[in-house]
Amino acid sequence: MLHNFGIDVILTAEISHFVAMIRRKSLGLIVRSAVLAFHPRVAVHRDAYGCHGGIMTIGPNVPKRYTGYKSFQYLEPDVDYKPFQLAKEIGRVEPYLVPVSNEQEQEVQDILAESIVISLHDHPFVVPEDPFQIFDYNRRGRQWTGYEGLSVSSLDVVFDNFMDGTALITSNAGWKWMDIIHDIGIRYSDIAHQDMVFRAETVEDLLRAKRAGQIALVPSLEAATPIENELDRIDVLYGLGIRCLGIAYSEANSLGSGLREARDGGLTEFGRQAVRRMNQLGMAIDVSHSGDQTALDTIEVSEKPIFITHVGARALWNSSRLKPDDVLKVCAEKGGVIGIEAAPHTTLTERHREHSIDAYMEHYEYIANLVGVDHVAFGPDTMFGDHVGIHHAFAAHLSIAQSRKGALQFNEVPYVKGIENPAEAMPNATRWLVSHGYSREDIAKALGLNILRVLKEAWHR
Ligand SMILES: [Zn+2]
Repeated sequence: MLHNFGIDVILTAEISHFVAMIRRKSLGLIVRSAVLAFHPRVAVHRDAYGCHGGIMTIGPNVPKRYTGYKSFQYLEPDVDYKPFQLAKEIGRVEPYLVPVSNEQEQEVQDILAESIVISLHDHPFVVPEDPFQIFDYNRRGRQWTGYEGLSVSSLDVVFDNFMDGTALITSNAGWKWMDIIHDIGIRYSDIAHQDMVFRAETVEDLLRAKRAGQIALVPSLEAATPIENELDRIDVLYGLGIRCLGIAYSEANSLGSGLREARDGGLTEFGRQAVRRMNQLGMAIDVSHSGDQTALDTIEVSEKPIFITHVGARALWNSSRLKPDDVLKVCAEKGGVIGIEAAPHTTLTERHREHSIDAYMEHYEYIANLVGVDHVAFGPDTMFGDHVGIHHAFAAHLSIAQSRKGALQFNEVPYVKGIENPAEAMPNATRWLVSHGYSREDIAKALGLNILRVLKEAWHR
């Protein structure tokens, strides 16, 4: 386990913020905060405090710099691109707030304001209102980013996984190298035309996002399938900004097996070389969709802790999409972090056969008890629009049915109540943790500090 890491805490002194801290914090934290607060605009290393019982304050809460920008507004619809009727980013379904008292809600808002809030896995784009238009939408290689929704999400950092295997620009099977490059290039162009979301490449970038009222977007891919048999393509992806790369998706590739395969041969020789190259480059590694043996091999071979960015516990719900206890434990023992998945009908439990924030948090609690609160985070895997409808449209393509092989019966829901989109995931997870008696320190770890610890190692330069 890794307990002695350094997180840069960047504080700008604001008297009102300091007064608020005095109101809220215990004496020990007041003293530490006072010391830091009187060093305005100075980056302070917290190594001296260790990771337990340290300061979780990253900076004063600065409103996100959202100006009303919409994707591609610099182009002309019907001339430069085909417009689609897109889903509402906010209020598409009835909002649900995990019930808390007024006092607890204040606590929730304080925690969200003071902590660095990171989604370890999301797709923060906007889906067409009619989810069956997703094929035409994606085939044109142009996805709209949900800036408006993100502006009220409390997120400071989001791992964005783009179209991934649904980049169908030149292929029905997905994952083609040029389609992946096309997708990220178009998204980057759009992102470059506004100031709220920016592409992050370093831990320092993540830390400055909150301070500056911005959101750091971490470019990620769920599988290394597009590299085919070319190790140097990992360098190319790194050069193009990708900072977290999965081993395999549902189907096996040249690196290893995906969760759909009946027989998992583990990490291939090429896969071992790829893991080594990712370690050398400073690319974080993800095994969320890899088979169990491939995941275990990757954790063993990697010299750095890795992520399982969006997953749940198979012990709670018998689906190959979720991970068994041994994989979760080994990941944590090597210092890694597990993000909890919220895509519809994934993190169900025998107690909660209707997918909701309660089922989701049962997975959080189970895994936190199994491996410790230092190794769990949130990777909700949400989007703006009808995610269940998208699953229906893509059912065959994404092998969703096969990935649920062996799963128990469940009641399909139209959306995951309480964790439906990137805007409500983190506030509701925080409400749930506060209302279940978790400490501020443990909540701050789940919201972001655990992920930062892994990135400090995985993104070494
Ligand atoms: Zn996924």
